[in-house]
Amino acid sequence: MGKRKEVNQSCPCGSGRSFADCCEPYINGDQAAPSAEALMRSRYTAYAQGNEAYILSTWHPSTRPQSISMQTEPAQKWLSLKIINSDKDSVEFVARYKIQGKAYKLHEKSRFRCEHMHWYYVDGDLAS
Ligand SMILES: [Zn+2]
Repeated sequence: MGKRKEVNQSCPCGSGRSFADCCEPYINGDQAAPSAEALMRSRYTAYAQGNEAYILSTWHPSTRPQSISMQTEPAQKWLSLKIINSDKDSVEFVARYKIQGKAYKLHEKSRFRCEHMHWYYVDGDLAS
């Protein structure tokens, strides 16, 4: 937040587009994410950028935690996102990350809900 971004910086979500043409307008509030997948991608990008406020604001109020902390010690570094499957209101993905140089992956099927033209993350099941 508040950091200057290069215009052609590629988006962390792995879409192949620049950040400015991909997740940035959703994250900075200029546009509402048009689909569950678009919201999921922008939430991944927010995780990669340590943007706790965006993660919380896109979490459905019924399941939203009081707070989240991304200042974990040791730090978690997000590496990549791969969408396996996406439906109207669910997205299955694999996200890879590293902690202290060791690689992990998170494979989850997330559920989303659209209310008042805004998509929200509801919850998810870990897949294996
Ligand atoms: Zn993106």
